[in-house]
Amino acid sequence: MSEKKRFLIFSIITLNVFYFLILVLGSGSFLMKSFTLFAILLITAYLSHSFGNIKFGKFSISTGFFFLFPMLIVFGPLITSSVAYAISLFQYAKVDISRRIYGGVQYAISYAVAGLVLQNLGINVYGLIVAFTIFKMLNFIFVDLFLYFYLNRYKNFLDALKYLSLEAGIFTLVIPIAYGLYLNLDDHLEIYFLVYTLLFPLLFVYMLSIENKSRIELEEEKARLSRHVNDLKRVLEVSQLLKSNISFVDLMMRVANIIHDDLGWEYVLVSIVKPDDSIERIAYAGITEDDFKKLKANCPTLSFVKNIMRDEFKISNSYFIPEEANINLPDEMTYIGKYDMVDSTSWKDKDLLWVPIYDRSGKMIAYISPDKPRSGKRPSTEDITILEIFANQVLVAIENSSEFETLQEKTIRDPQTGLYNHTEFYKRIDKLVKEKEKFSLLMMDIDDFKFVNDSYGHQTGDTIIEYLAERIKLSIRHGDIAARYGGDEFAVILKGTEKTMASMIAERLRLSVAEGNPPVKITISIGISEYPSNASNLNDVVFAADQALYMAKMRGKNQVEISN
Ligand code: GH3
Ligand code: MG
Repeated sequence: MSEKKRFLIFSIITLNVFYFLILVLGSGSFLMKSFTLFAILLITAYLSHSFGNIKFGKFSISTGFFFLFPMLIVFGPLITSSVAYAISLFQYAKVDISRRIYGGVQYAISYAVAGLVLQNLGINVYGLIVAFTIFKMLNFIFVDLFLYFYLNRYKNFLDALKYLSLEAGIFTLVIPIAYGLYLNLDDHLEIYFLVYTLLFPLLFVYMLSIENKSRIELEEEKARLSRHVNDLKRVLEVSQLLKSNISFVDLMMRVANIIHDDLGWEYVLVSIVKPDDSIERIAYAGITEDDFKKLKANCPTLSFVKNIMRDEFKISNSYFIPEEANINLPDEMTYIGKYDMVDSTSWKDKDLLWVPIYDRSGKMIAYISPDKPRSGKRPSTEDITILEIFANQVLVAIENSSEFETLQEKTIRDPQTGLYNHTEFYKRIDKLVKEKEKFSLLMMDIDDFKFVNDSYGHQTGDTIIEYLAERIKLSIRHGDIAARYGGDEFAVILKGTEKTMASMIAERLRLSVAEGNPPVKITISIGISEYPSNASNLNDVVFAADQALYMAKMRGKNQVEISN
């Protein structure tokens, strides 16, 4: 049993016994009654002053008042203030002498003034209330304001007033009892005794709940702090991992796991945005591999994601999309767990949180989507800030990671030659057409390549493909675009170049291929078209170059043909 609980029980029993004795003594002779009464009041006042300082968080209540105030009524200000002074001076509790004296003096003054007021106004309900109020005010000024306010006991003045009214409220209970005691009317006493006995424990329970609340708040604060320290430790851990040569995907898995284990998010997904603007999920935590595979196969598009990342949902640099927003993400794209909805601060099933990661140019290159906080609460700005610290680590990891570049490049380049792939070729040429930029297009194809494969094997064929790719790279300028169109067919976009100029470059390339020293001699045919003079749209310009290439083949191969 805690000290506080023990004291509570002690004080409730003492008070009840005390008032019970008053009740019994009420029928005895005055002398006997007053002497015994004085002794009882003195002893209970001493005990409660020594042991009876109950602390409820910042609020402390001295129960000595319960016995000294009745003493004030029966025995007057002089006796009571002397007793109060003596009690403070000789109290059992370990208090240094200056505090004993200070307490004694302030009690003596407060009781004396209250007693004098009572004598002046007469002992009636009005007099008792005024005397009590004055006592409480003096006590508040001397103790709460002067001593404790000075010691930073209260965060603000309102707090102090709140506790004053609470204490006064409890002490007010003494007034009817003390009055009844003075009147010495058995039937009244019985009523007050009854009221008191019923109310006092209730009030204590209430007080205890206040204490409990402040203790819980304190514990929550403590937990919050240690959580933050913990979060920072994890950040440190991740930044240390950055220095090790852990693979990019492993690092992202680690980040996802920390967000899951330490930051308390049930499900975590890390997705990256590729240069072709497709989204790939690369790491996860809290979900099964099968579920992850399903999610991996069902990625939202970048435009879909961007469309949802609206300013109205922005918190810090992240986006919280509440269920109420009614944005319907297809079920297969997200992980919807079951959660008990409690109130407006509770996380709801379809709530979404996206923490985007931007590169230096402001392009979104990845995002973390944590789901279902274990606290059950929607995230606070603080929670989001912590996630963003992790997101920033992810950015550092991405920037440090050649693997990430590989991951990114993989989608735009042909792995065999390192040239842009078919998709990327169309993307680039489409962009040029949209921007109405002049260019020439070279479409080329190895002559009789089937023969090379058939006679020397596919491996030699591969070497020839790579050889040609190198020749192409050597013959173009920085800014030109070379792509593997497919098989033994290649495309080169020469920016800002007219077809006459392009044909010279093509001719030089044709010769360099023919004169080079590959394992097997090859020749190439090249068709050229020009944008916009030959064609006004993407398909036509490619078709025109293809036609020219076809003509070159028809006319005997190993030559350059310009579209007209
Ligand atoms: P043409 O002069 O008319 O172009 O005749 P061709 O024999 O080169 O015929 P075509 O271009 O239609 O055939 C290309 C062949 O190249 C077909 C395919 O098997 C082969 N090929 C495509 N890509 C590769 C590759 O990466 N490595 C190897 N070894 N062969 C490839
Ligand atoms: Mg060919």
